[in-house]
Amino acid sequence: MEKQCYFCTSNIKSVDHKDVESLKRFLDPQFRIVPKRRSGLCSLHQRNLARAVKRARVMAMLPFVVR
Ligand SMILES: [Zn+2]
Repeated sequence: MEKQCYFCTSNIKSVDHKDVESLKRFLDPQFRIVPKRRSGLCSLHQRNLARAVKRARVMAMLPFVVR
């Protein structure tokens, strides 16, 4: 994972919940959001990501955490 925030680097201001491919970069194999220190995201985008993933799950675009 690169050191710079992926979304800042890509000039994405708010994370799009429909962009499942981007969201998946920051999910572990159990579809949990990876912690900030591993995702390399800034605080703003880490929060943004959490919201987008939540929305994507509600819309059934991503599975909920696999237990
Ligand atoms: Zn960022």
